[in-house]
Amino acid sequence: MSQLNSLLNITKTKKSRLEEVDFDNLQFGKNYADHMMYCDYIDGEWQKPVIAPYGPMSFEPSVKVFHYGQAVFEGMKAFKDDHDDVWLFRPEDNLNRINISSKRMAIPEFPKEYFMESLKTLMQLDKDWVKKGQGNSLYIRPFAIATEPGVSASESNQYRFMIITCPAKAYYSKPVKVLIAQDYSRSADGGVGYAKAAGNYGAQFYPTKLAKEKGLDQIIWTDANTHQYMEEAGTMNIFFRINDKLLTAPTNDRILDGITRRSIIQLAKDEGLDVEIDRVEVKRIIDAAKAGELKEIFGAGTAATIVAVEGFEYDDTYYDLPEMKDSFGMHFKKRLQDIQYNRAEDPHNWRFKI
Ligand code: PMP
Repeated sequence: MSQLNSLLNITKTKKSRLEEVDFDNLQFGKNYADHMMYCDYIDGEWQKPVIAPYGPMSFEPSVKVFHYGQAVFEGMKAFKDDHDDVWLFRPEDNLNRINISSKRMAIPEFPKEYFMESLKTLMQLDKDWVKKGQGNSLYIRPFAIATEPGVSASESNQYRFMIITCPAKAYYSKPVKVLIAQDYSRSADGGVGYAKAAGNYGAQFYPTKLAKEKGLDQIIWTDANTHQYMEEAGTMNIFFRINDKLLTAPTNDRILDGITRRSIIQLAKDEGLDVEIDRVEVKRIIDAAKAGELKEIFGAGTAATIVAVEGFEYDDTYYDLPEMKDSFGMHFKKRLQDIQYNRAEDPHNWRFKI
């Protein structure tokens, strides 16, 4: 059942796997929707993207991504409103960011019309995989990998760009305990911290495992040179609330420019909140915690929107955070989700209708 579209080659699945999925006991990342997109870069050009049934691919063992980690990815979500319309949230920002990441990893940039047309087609074909209801979504994972065979340590001249999607369930994002990094670093000046490069994530697993052995859930990374300034968490940017002021670090070449972070800063400014975007010194946060002025810490990212931090460890001392009734974090989570699920006005045109 192949179908031609001016921009894409589309082959639809013969039989949907939707019925096989137990949506009541969904495990994130275990089930993938019926269709995927792939597009090869060969002879200096992106070829026509292909939409095909989700399934395994085969590669030679020598392809470069396996050896040198030339790979980038994105994370975004589709939401369904009460009228069964499907919406994306700031999708062009994800495209821009994967192209920024690609540039840093010497991967060719992916064309906008291929990206947007593929997303629209995938969402239309797999719209039944986007479930209604607060917190339900279809997680979308675009990524690009180096596919040229050959173990020579040089940039690849073949790539594959892909988009796969998987349903994500409403889940109660329980508050987390975090470790403020003093030993390990996530990224360095002049490095790849600002890119969503696969290796940034692989390198975090070991220090995070050590933190988990101490009963902590995640790490807040600090600057690699001095470990005195807070940067971001594993897959989230991080906000601090001292009394009624919201603080977050500026993005730089070590920090990912998060779309949730950017949206929260905009909404906070719209509301006239005092937002300080400046380096956040660990000492300032510890002093504020001791003085009872540190009201909240929360992480912001596509996966859970906002995750509250219930306490943190630094220098082998654990600091508890108070439970806030008028939490800024929960307020912005609601505001963002109301926009994402088409329940509220969208003053900055962030929603994108499929
Ligand atoms: N920082 C890192 C390192 C991340 O991986 C993510 C997730 N993409 C974020 C922050 C949050 O970014 P976003 O809000 O765009 O999901």
